[in-house]
Order: sequence, then C-alpha cells, then structure tokens
Amino acid sequence: MSKIYDVVIIGAGPAGLSAGLYAARAKMSALIIEKDRNGGQIVTTEEVANYPGGIKEETGPSLVARMVEQTEEFGAERVKGNVVDVDFTNDIKIVKCEDAEYQAKSVIIATGASPRKLDCPGEKELTGKGVSYCATCDADFFTDFEVFAIGGGDTAVEEAMFLTKFARKVTLVHRRDELRAAKSIQEKAFNNDKIEFIWNSAVHEIKGDGMVESVVLENLETGELTEIHAHEDDGTFGIFVFVGYIPQTTLFKDKIELDKAGYILTDTEMRTNVEGVYSAGDVRQKTLRQVVTAVADGAIAAVQAEKYIDHKFGH
Ligand code: NAP
Repeated sequence: MSKIYDVVIIGAGPAGLSAGLYAARAKMSALIIEKDRNGGQIVTTEEVANYPGGIKEETGPSLVARMVEQTEEFGAERVKGNVVDVDFTNDIKIVKCEDAEYQAKSVIIATGASPRKLDCPGEKELTGKGVSYCATCDADFFTDFEVFAIGGGDTAVEEAMFLTKFARKVTLVHRRDELRAAKSIQEKAFNNDKIEFIWNSAVHEIKGDGMVESVVLENLETGELTEIHAHEDDGTFGIFVFVGYIPQTTLFKDKIELDKAGYILTDTEMRTNVEGVYSAGDVRQKTLRQVVTAVADGAIAAVQAEKYIDHKFGH
C-alpha cells in the first residue's frame, strides 16, 4: 500500500509553493508535483518590483528560488511529474502521473493560467524586450514612452487605462470595431485623452533587434499592412498583449466546478465544490492574478486542508 499524503499539491508556482510551505509547517505530509520547472509564470519575469519585501533587483527566478528553499526547509516533498488524471470521488483522492500514482487526504490545485499569445512572428523573441503580458509588472519601464495594448476585453481596456499613468500615449489595437469590455469600462477609456484606438486590426509581426522597434498591423477588413516605427528619440515602445488567459484545467473538467472560461470556482477559503479539494492562484476565478495573491491563496488553502483533515480523519 503506497503512502497516503495529507495533501498533494499540483503545481509549483508561488501558490503551490506557499501551500506546501504552510502545509509542511503545520506538520502535514505534503507533496508538490510540478510538470516543467518550479515557479510558473513568474520565472519569465525579469524584474519583480511589486512583491512586498522583495529584495533589490529581484527577478522572478530569484524570488522563486528562495520560495523553493524555504518550502524544502519545512519538509515539503517535491517531485517532477505530469499529472494525467485525478480521481476525487472518494475520501482518499488519487492523483495519477504518467509514471506514478499518489494518494492523498486532500488536494490543492495550483496549476496556474497562462496569457494567451498572439502567435505572430517576433512575439516570442521580443517577450521581455518590449513585449509584455502584465502591465502591473512592466508599465513602469515605459514611463514617458509610447505603448500599444492589444485586445478588446475588460483586461485590455482596464490595463490600457492603467498604462496611461506611465506611458505618454497608449494605442489600443482591437481586431473588431467594438470592444468586448463592459460599457462602464469602455466609457472611461473613450474619455481618456491619452488613449487612441486602432480598430479592425491584428498584430501581423513584431520587429526589433534586441528591443521592439516596430510593429506591423494588418487591417482585417482590407488586408492592408501598416508598419509603425518607434519614435526616433525613443528607439522603442511597449506592446502589451491582453487577449485573454488560458487556465490549466483541462484535467479537471467534469471533476470540479469551473466557470465558463475554465477557471476553478472556489469560495473565499479556497474550497472547490468537492470536499477535500482546494484551489489556489491564477487557476481559480479571481480578479487580481499576482504573486502576492497567489501566495495568499496557497496559505489559505493549506490551512483549510489541515482543518478539513483534522475534522474528517482525526489525528
Ligand atoms: P476576454 O474577455 O476573453 O477578452 C479577450 C480579448 O482579446 C477580446 O477582446 C478578444 O477579441 C481579443 N482576442 C482574443 N484572441 C485574440 C487574438 N489572437 N488576437 C487579437 N485579439 C484577440 O479576456 P480578458 O479581457 O482577459 O477577461 C477575462 C475575464 O476576466 C472576462 O470574463 C472578464 O470579464 C474578466 N475581467 C473582469 C474585469 C472587471 O470586471 N473589472 C477586469 C478584467 C477581467 P474579441 O472581442 O473579438 O473576441
């Protein structure tokens, strides 16, 4: 009979690591399963300036490395594995990886979400060099520069407004001739002098040698391509992509309750609709997806899992 963990945590981003730290510190046996690398989305960030108490010149990888170390110090186990199936139907939950199977009294899902990409030439090469998916993280780098925001949903329009606090001009590029964002949010953007709109257009290519230098837009009605170059004095501009997120929840469809977009529904204590199953971080339905909210979710989920185990299984 294989070991039954108190808690198995799926995902080793900030939410999963924080859950592991709190669980292990509460003397629960905790196993964190990570598919690729520790850290999730944050390890792709060059500078983390908004995490309270972060050190000077903090990068995503440096912050995550300290989180991993701290989590290990408290005794959480970590394993690499690709979770292929879960069975939440009984009190003892089963998490199946390609080459191993784990049993647990509780499970915390912290699989994250990833920003949807434009999938155009130049996007990948220039990510972190002018192309960004996070205004909260990167807007400051474009103080007094021009920026383009791509997308027409609530995120694109709200973030475009946020960007006007830094950039001297924000151009919102949307693929249709009307925004998807809520009318109340749209109105504020239309009334903001620093925001201009380019309609019916998609990003065809992003160009630059080490930094974004120009963007080629395609007018989707006429097929016409227009290349917009950075202002000579600036040499560069920002391209902020807000075309939705993809939650990593394919595995959990039909097993736990998700919203229409695929995010996991939880209450404020990170409980899903299945007893003993919790969710933390970007994968759950929430409004602010940041490291600071992910680690908070992880801590809450672990504390709730501990209470549940005490109540359900006793000591
Ligand atoms: P979203 O609502 O899915 O909007 C994505 C936007 O990107 C849409 O305008 C879409 O265009 C566009 N798009 C998708 N793929 C594209 C592509 N390949 N190239 C160019 N454009 C593309 O995503 P979101 O804005 O991130 O919002 C996600 C959820 O969070 C929504 O439910 C939203 O209401 C919610 N949210 C709420 C608030 C708030 O209430 N304050 C704030 C932020 C987010 P089309 O319009 O043509 O489909």
